[in-house]
Amino acid sequence: MIGVAAADRGRSPGAPRLDIDLAAVAENTRVLASRASGELMAVVKADGFGHGAVDLARTALAHGATRLGVTSLDEAWPLLDLGVPVLSWLNPVDADFAAATFRGVQVAVPSLQHLSAVAAAPGRTRVHLHVDAGMARDGADPAGWAHLCRTARRAERRGEVEVVGVMGHLGCADVPDDECNALARTRFVWALEHARAAGLRPRDRHLAATAATLTDPRTHHTMSRVGAGLVGIDPSRTTPLRAAMTLTAPVISVRRVRAGTPIGYGHAHRTSAPTNLALVPLGYADGLPRAASGRAQVLVRGVRRPVVGTLSMDQLVVDLGQRGVDLGETVTVFGPGDAGEPTVAEWAAWAGTIEHEIVTGIGSRVARRVRSVPHLRSLP
Ligand SMILES: *Cc1c(COP(=O)(O)O)cnc(C)c1O
Repeated sequence: MIGVAAADRGRSPGAPRLDIDLAAVAENTRVLASRASGELMAVVKADGFGHGAVDLARTALAHGATRLGVTSLDEAWPLLDLGVPVLSWLNPVDADFAAATFRGVQVAVPSLQHLSAVAAAPGRTRVHLHVDAGMARDGADPAGWAHLCRTARRAERRGEVEVVGVMGHLGCADVPDDECNALARTRFVWALEHARAAGLRPRDRHLAATAATLTDPRTHHTMSRVGAGLVGIDPSRTTPLRAAMTLTAPVISVRRVRAGTPIGYGHAHRTSAPTNLALVPLGYADGLPRAASGRAQVLVRGVRRPVVGTLSMDQLVVDLGQRGVDLGETVTVFGPGDAGEPTVAEWAAWAGTIEHEIVTGIGSRVARRVRSVPHLRSLP
């Protein structure tokens, strides 16, 4: 089944297009669920890592995930119809916690101020206390953790909150042997002990994201929060997962040039021989990193060819050598790699970044086409 997003109706058929393969997401979810000792929370923040939050959520829930996680409350609202608990963990103190409580969204509490704000909202909010496991980013400072737990317990007794979870996050899980992981595991267990000592009984205790889910069962506790793995990114590089995005675009024009022809802004590249150049309408406004200029490649007629000159906002130039290509013919910028096309991992390496930044950065100008997983129930 192939669906075209509502926003994409009326776009030219040959325009740049991002294909999302939900069968890959289904397969990745099954791998992650088989590795996790506890429940699997599908993290669908940032529009499902650029793959479509609701599509990613539905697919993950149909293949082993039982919960959903996002950063902001605004990301939670569209997921409420899916029938599973949704946790939102990154909100300012003046976020609409009353709406969260009313609509049944669980929220993370990383500070006393957040606890007061959540407790002040009418109704009893389900909360996950968030401890900083050692990366000084989000989560409560361990120095104030015991106090936060006791205060939360008092709010719980007053019926203002229900502490259903304790969460932490690992700063170095992509390097499984890093001693930072051992420290974080220890700190998380310590945090759980303090929560218990304060009289709290959180049923969800979660520390692992994708990398630790795949490499370290000691981090699993009762739940894993996985995002990157769902879309085929394994930060630990230990497990083959399947990429779900393919980016293609048509050739706009082809020109024959002489040796020594400068290409693009700043003449960053000059041809070394007579050659054919193809123009493709994708650039950094569409999420292709400008930093990949001089290294990137695309697949043209089954062969990899270099992107030459500096990537522009809207366009890039491919050196075809002595090969030709038809106008309007499709070029593959990246995909799972099955046909020899570059992968998101290669684009990330060319730009000195990580795959996450590429998949979350594809611009709104690119049409999206979603290939769904056939519904098992509708099969004979
Ligand atoms: C994004 C995020 C996750 C998911 O991490 P992945 O490595 O993408 O699986 C888990 N927990 C928190 C707090 C996050 O921000």
